[in-house]
Amino acid sequence: NVLIAGAGGFIGGHLTKKLLDLGANVTAIDIKPLNLWFQKFNNSRNITSDLRLLGNCMKYTKNINYIFNLACNMGGMGFIENNKAECMISVLINTHLLSAAKENKVKKFFFSSSACVYNTNLQKKSFISGLRESDAYPAMPEDGYGWEKLFSERMCRHFYEDFNLDISIARFHNIYGPFGTFEGGREKAPAALCRKISQAKLNKKYEIDIWGDGKQTRSFLYIDDCINGILNLFETKYIEPINIGSEEQVSINELVKRIEKISKIPKLKKRYKLNMPKGVRGRSSDNKNALKILKWKYNITLNEGLKFTYDWIEDNLINNNQKNMKYRISKII
Ligand code: NAD
Repeated sequence: NVLIAGAGGFIGGHLTKKLLDLGANVTAIDIKPLNLWFQKFNNSRNITSDLRLLGNCMKYTKNINYIFNLACNMGGMGFIENNKAECMISVLINTHLLSAAKENKVKKFFFSSSACVYNTNLQKKSFISGLRESDAYPAMPEDGYGWEKLFSERMCRHFYEDFNLDISIARFHNIYGPFGTFEGGREKAPAALCRKISQAKLNKKYEIDIWGDGKQTRSFLYIDDCINGILNLFETKYIEPINIGSEEQVSINELVKRIEKISKIPKLKKRYKLNMPKGVRGRSSDNKNALKILKWKYNITLNEGLKFTYDWIEDNLINNNQKNMKYRISKII
């Protein structure tokens, strides 16, 4: 019996599918109404509930063996730089889910942390070595969102030490793919750029805005590799936070170039918006621990993953069939 918190979201939706395929009995929960979930399955128990509230966490963790907590009020840089308090309030979800897990004797708890926990002082150059798990300390994470994740990681650790609740903690680095946000203010760079380039192509207006000078770097991990990483991690007894990311560090300009090629759009004019949120200058993942401890490495190249993502977003733009396109989650949370 598995509970997936945040099942109506991007990673939660893909994880729900995978666990159902593996035969799990899944309770899928999200604060969003069901018609706004990215993916919804008939063979899971689907519930709309606010997991910031202890009562809801207590109710839905009864008879649950495993919890995967993917629920969080989050988005790309545009969201997290401008909504720091909102991001920090997600601490209530983790606090109450952990407390309920302890009370209801849940066997294991997975927490989705982020590369935003890493010390920002190590990420001031465009190209940096991959961030090792130990680079989170001394602590100077991304303000708001990163501090909440770092605090919640430690809370998980202490629930393990003090109450014997088994835990797994993944630090995700920019996960992307279909069935995620690509419009509305919460989208991240790959989805935002696929959408902008597709719109430019469909409208035959061959220009796009790029946030920053485009020289900032990140590494991007395709969703299927992420899901495999989560499951490998969950099967271990490893309790330290561990990177689930790609080591292929590319600049935003390079990302744009690859999406342009996939879209087959004529040459684009780029307008660089230097005052828009851009986050740290450079970031990538060091996967030595993931390889050694989880026996995990990613299989899908950035070009392959971008092609799947671009095609899905373009299809949504053409058919206007993503129900949550005009939806602003902050109105509900
Ligand atoms: P997402 O926004 O698509 O999914 C999160 C889901 O949580 C949303 O559907 C939202 O409605 C739900 N939620 C928010 N508040 C809730 C509440 N009070 N009760 C119940 N549900 C609530 O995001 P995602 O990309 O799927 O991310 C999943 C997790 O992974 C998050 O914890 C996120 O911080 C972490 N993460 C993601 C990335 C990434 O690149 N996608 C990177 C680092 C960390």
